[in-house]
Amino acid sequence: MRCDHCAHDVPDGVFCTRCGAHQGTSEEIGNAKTREQRYAAHPAEHVIQPSVFTTLFPHLGQHKIHEFRWAFIVGLAGILVLYLAGLITAAILVAAFLVPVLYLIYLYEAQVYRDEPATVLGFTIGGGIVVGIVVTVLERVLYHPFQDAGNPLVNAGISIGSLLLLGLVLPVIQEVLKPLPALFLPNRADFPETVDGLVFGIASGLGFSLAETLIVFSGALTSLTAHVEPANWIYELLTLAVLQPLLQGSATGMIVATLWRYRRGRLGGREIGGVAMAVIAHVAFSLGTQLMNDTSVNALFVLAWQAVVVGALLIYIRYVLHHALLEEAAHMGYAETICANCHMHIVASGFCPNCGMALTAAPNSIKRGRRPRKDAPAASGDA
Ligand SMILES: [Zn+2]
Ligand SMILES: [Zn+2]
Repeated sequence: MRCDHCAHDVPDGVFCTRCGAHQGTSEEIGNAKTREQRYAAHPAEHVIQPSVFTTLFPHLGQHKIHEFRWAFIVGLAGILVLYLAGLITAAILVAAFLVPVLYLIYLYEAQVYRDEPATVLGFTIGGGIVVGIVVTVLERVLYHPFQDAGNPLVNAGISIGSLLLLGLVLPVIQEVLKPLPALFLPNRADFPETVDGLVFGIASGLGFSLAETLIVFSGALTSLTAHVEPANWIYELLTLAVLQPLLQGSATGMIVATLWRYRRGRLGGREIGGVAMAVIAHVAFSLGTQLMNDTSVNALFVLAWQAVVVGALLIYIRYVLHHALLEEAAHMGYAETICANCHMHIVASGFCPNCGMALTAAPNSIKRGRRPRKDAPAASGDA
């Protein structure tokens, strides 16, 4: 079969294994080349879908995604139980660790670090933690908003200076510093794909988020007695457990993915827009939260605002990664492998001919199992 889009002879399939284009008629699928309703890392989803797990955990197949969703829900339920029991300190600790620990398990599961777990984890999560400690401690030396009783719920009133500092200056400084550990990864040439950069950035951002949360709440952690009556901590806990780490992780993921694109000589408007998007999202998140807290807006609105910002950032990441995968997965050579998404035994180059998944986003165990074939076979070998 000859692909209409890349003009190569490819095995029969719904998708071209070399360029990932959908082989159906254009009316069925919109633009067959960019196939935006078939997100390259998870073809069951549209690119424009603010899904947390398929965006930030791009190497996981369908089953694993469900396991991680469940683990996350169980973690949130645990936080709720601790909160209802009045164990706020424990609830804050679980909230701080929940997403970073899930991500660590994900890195292990997908073996994104290949043969060098120590170096990669050290320079991503570890580096993020170090940057988080340094930045947060410096922030608190220069500015102490929470000195009263160490309780972050006591707000300091509206001040333009502190609003600009917390809402604008600090987010920009953080976005400049958080990608540094991943950028200094010594063996980064072993991880050329943008999807690797994205994951390293997210890991670094989550390490930062963990350190930041623990330091900012250290006052509350030590000054609260172990058992207090449930007050209005529940919203704060949701921000800590979900929205704050997702923002910190995805913003840095986006920026590091852009650096990876730059190293491949593929820096375009889409990627530069991504950096702008990451910084704007972080500023919108912090400034909006600060403003609403200062003016005592209902905490549910604060959460909704934070969720909207994170959702928009997630969609932009998918947009960048989708196009990066379509470009980068195109030249892998033919090999026998198993698709991580649809579990078919396939003979494929860059994309699964059956479901269209970009095979560079497969877990490393599957990539390692690829058995190269010199010749392009006539059929795609559907099982
Ligand atoms: Zn093609
Ligand atoms: Zn497939």
